Amino acid sequence: MTSPRGPKDNPGDADSRSPRLDAGRSRVTARPSVVIVGGGFGGLAAARALARAPVEVVLVDRTNHHLFQPLLYQVATAGLAPGDIASPIRQVLRAQKNATVLLGEATGVDPGARRVALEIAGRGRVELAYDFLIVATGVAQSYFGHDEFARFAPGLKTLEDATAVRGEILGAFERAEAQENPAARRDLLTIVLVGAGPTGVEMAGAIAELARATLAEDFRRVDPSSARVVLVEAGARILPTFHESLARRAHARLESMGVEIRVAQPVAAVDERGVLVGGERIEAGVVLWTAGVKPSPAAAWLGAATDRAGRVLVEPDLSVPGRPEVFVVGDVAAKLQDGAPLPGVAQVAIQGGRYVGRVVARRLAGRPAPPPFRYRDKGNLAVVGRDFAVLERGRLRLSGWLAWALWATIHITYLALFNNRLLVFTQWVWSYLTWQRGSRLILGRH
Ligand SMILES: Cc1cc2nc3c(=O)[nH]c(=O)nc-3n(C[C@H](O)[C@H](O)[C@H](O)COP(=O)(O)OP(=O)(O)OC[C@H]3O[C@@H](n4cnc5c(N)ncnc54)[C@H](O)[C@@H]3O)c2cc1C
Repeated sequence: MTSPRGPKDNPGDADSRSPRLDAGRSRVTARPSVVIVGGGFGGLAAARALARAPVEVVLVDRTNHHLFQPLLYQVATAGLAPGDIASPIRQVLRAQKNATVLLGEATGVDPGARRVALEIAGRGRVELAYDFLIVATGVAQSYFGHDEFARFAPGLKTLEDATAVRGEILGAFERAEAQENPAARRDLLTIVLVGAGPTGVEMAGAIAELARATLAEDFRRVDPSSARVVLVEAGARILPTFHESLARRAHARLESMGVEIRVAQPVAAVDERGVLVGGERIEAGVVLWTAGVKPSPAAAWLGAATDRAGRVLVEPDLSVPGRPEVFVVGDVAAKLQDGAPLPGVAQVAIQGGRYVGRVVARRLAGRPAPPPFRYRDKGNLAVVGRDFAVLERGRLRLSGWLAWALWATIHITYLALFNNRLLVFTQWVWSYLTWQRGSRLILGRH
């Protein structure tokens, strides 16, 4: 990582418009600096909302890309390639001249001194001063106190996770093809998903289609369509965030695709050979964790109060209590609305990011603050294989082809760059017509 180039690098350059990367020696520029940690949905929306504000925006992310997580399951099931759903943050903000992008990992915040500590490759520890700080670092996978499961049951949060999961799934079919023992083959072709929220449901549907359609003709010694896909849920039903009637329809649809669903059965153990669920041992070639999440350590950095899940409790304007210059948005923020916590979904992060951008811009312009943040629910969607999705928006509940078409349109619209939209659209049309999947690669030695 290098600091910004050219005359802006000169420490004595009073006109410098770019942030210095060493807050210990000088503050940033003549213009107030807004440091945003996290280039996901919340952080990127905040940066964009500040495009016209008289500030220097510094967006820091530990990856160089904005990831469209709702389509991660399609990378994990070989439908899309990583580059289809990830956009370089630098490219997304190329035209926004008041924004600088840094590839680095935030490791702490000194709210008193208004500095963020970063680890930057090739540079080591650097401190960045801020006038305003927006934390949008999202969540990580949670194994509910059983971190030992992580070795055997990978989760799905990053592109690396998705390509690893893809390798696990495709690799199980390869190993089964080379296996002589029928019982071992059957075990290898058993895929267990732990957690039946939207990600588990979408993954289960996609894996069933992969096995029964895409791979069906490609093997000679095993029958891929005989693969057993088991979706396990500790709660009473699948899709707990959806209305019961929609969950029932998704349940029936998954079963019609050959997915075995086990509800009210918590997983007691996971190891390299399978899972223990509801007192029964299931030998499996692949176990995937689609269950829980835990917030990034933002609350510890800020010394802020949290909800029971560890998310930062925020004020009505999404600032941290007692720190009006520090905001937390997206999955890592705990915000109540009408007595219920806002869900960890992309729209909450996007709307929160935009809102905070507005708060900062108005404050600097000496204008009154906007009314408290209020999330406008645009609806909840989950897709179950081709041609079928469930959609809930207020009192509207829809399932089937129309919901699926809306799901596809909405997802394409919200991809960050035009080329991502084009790539995903083209892949989907091709897959729809051929039942094939564009990215059936096992990377690395398996
Ligand atoms: C598999 C999956 C499927 C999903 N499907 C849907 C869906 O269908 N619909 C929906 O609305 N929502 C969905 N979600 C949830 C949605 O993606 C999140 O609610 C949304 O991404 C939250 O946005 P955010 O900005 O808070 O965090 P994120 O988008 O997760 O962004 C956080 C960013 O912070 C960066 N970061 C983290 N820690 C640091 C650090 N220390 N230093 C620097 N950078 C850091 C990360 O690299 C990342 O870029 C899904 C999530 C997953 C994982």
